[in-house]
Amino acid sequence: MSKYKINTRCVQGGYTPGNGEPRQVPIIQSTTFKYDTSEAMGKLFDLEESGYFYTRLQNPTNDHVAAKIAELEGGTAAMLTSSGQAANFFALFNICECGSHIVASSSIYGGTFNLIAVTMAKMGITATFVSPDCTEEELNTAFQDNTRAVFGETIANPALTVLDIEKFAKAAHSHGVPLIVDNTFPTPINCRPIEWGADIVTHSTTKYMDGHGAAVGGAIVDSGKFDWMVHAEKFPGLCTPDESYHGITYAEKFGKEGAFITKCTAQLMRDFGCIQSPQNAFLLNLGLESLHVRMPRHVENGQAVAEYLLNHPKVAYVNYSGLPSDKYYALAQKYLPNGGCGVVSFGLKGGRKAAEAFMKNLKLAAIETHVADARTCCLNPASSTHRQMNDEQLKAAGVPAELIRISCGIEDKEDLIADLEQALNNC
Ligand SMILES: *Cc1c(COP(=O)(O)O)cnc(C)c1O
Repeated sequence: MSKYKINTRCVQGGYTPGNGEPRQVPIIQSTTFKYDTSEAMGKLFDLEESGYFYTRLQNPTNDHVAAKIAELEGGTAAMLTSSGQAANFFALFNICECGSHIVASSSIYGGTFNLIAVTMAKMGITATFVSPDCTEEELNTAFQDNTRAVFGETIANPALTVLDIEKFAKAAHSHGVPLIVDNTFPTPINCRPIEWGADIVTHSTTKYMDGHGAAVGGAIVDSGKFDWMVHAEKFPGLCTPDESYHGITYAEKFGKEGAFITKCTAQLMRDFGCIQSPQNAFLLNLGLESLHVRMPRHVENGQAVAEYLLNHPKVAYVNYSGLPSDKYYALAQKYLPNGGCGVVSFGLKGGRKAAEAFMKNLKLAAIETHVADARTCCLNPASSTHRQMNDEQLKAAGVPAELIRISCGIEDKEDLIADLEQALNNC
């Protein structure tokens, strides 16, 4: 499929049925797989042959859909996980262990920040957070001898900062470690981080990829470009024999192209079991089939809503990298020339009270914690997800009381703007 353009890969990638086989990706709803001899099954366990034995580790439905996502991102291998959280945890833990250190952008999804700053810290993995806007010099000083990965989000949720992928990739590579980029918000339709130097790409497929608010899921894609063996002393898990897997050395046996995902499947999926259900993988694939049609509409609606809000007298500020006045406009022009996503955030001059009234007035946009759905949804973090914080804490966390996040769906933009108009008139 890689000879075809990305739109074609969305529709037909990952699965090519043979003569008389189902046209749609079959849901292999089976925990286990049958073999004629123990020897045949043994070869699978030894990773001597590829095949399926237990759905906690691998399932054919998932592998078709993962292959499509690998084709979209321009990677060599991919896997699906039960959620975006699991994808980011696996991507990091596949190369980090107790005593390792991570350099991460401070502008990332709250769940991922907690994962790195709190939960992985309990495993003995420390982190240094840097502003995505830091200078190269500041970035380089964040590295330590035990740094094993650099992490950032192409467009951060919810801050909407744009990552300078080349800057982060350069720093990571000059310290002999890979750059992991969470590409959930732009999707490969609007940005392919591997083309800019990222080594591993992750997704919360729960968002635009599924796109219909139907299935929680995640994905990890390997670019196949990072040469683990050149930095073997840093990555013993990939470059020395795995005694829990018959002494296999992943980087030797599967090369740059396959080692990361094979180890992640054989070890982490085996031990943690965060696999996506084949049913959800099937739903995800339905979403992927129209991703290239939906993303331009999300961008069109996001841009129209951002421009409308910018000119509204009750609006104090608007964050959207498609606006020439936005701090990230130049980076977005470089990395997201076709636009970023449909998520816009803005502040009301009337503060907390106005934000609460605005939310009550909405008729078409639904109040949800979700984003990146075909249906427009809205959130005022101060009165919902972050309500335990006071105004000062909210400000420090980058979600001031007056902030509203709107995730523009694929409805008619005139209807969306009319809904905002009536909600703003009455707040
Ligand atoms: C939602 C989200 C996640 C977490 O994904 P889940 O599927 O909810 O586990 C991670 N990163 C980003 C950028 C997200 O938006």
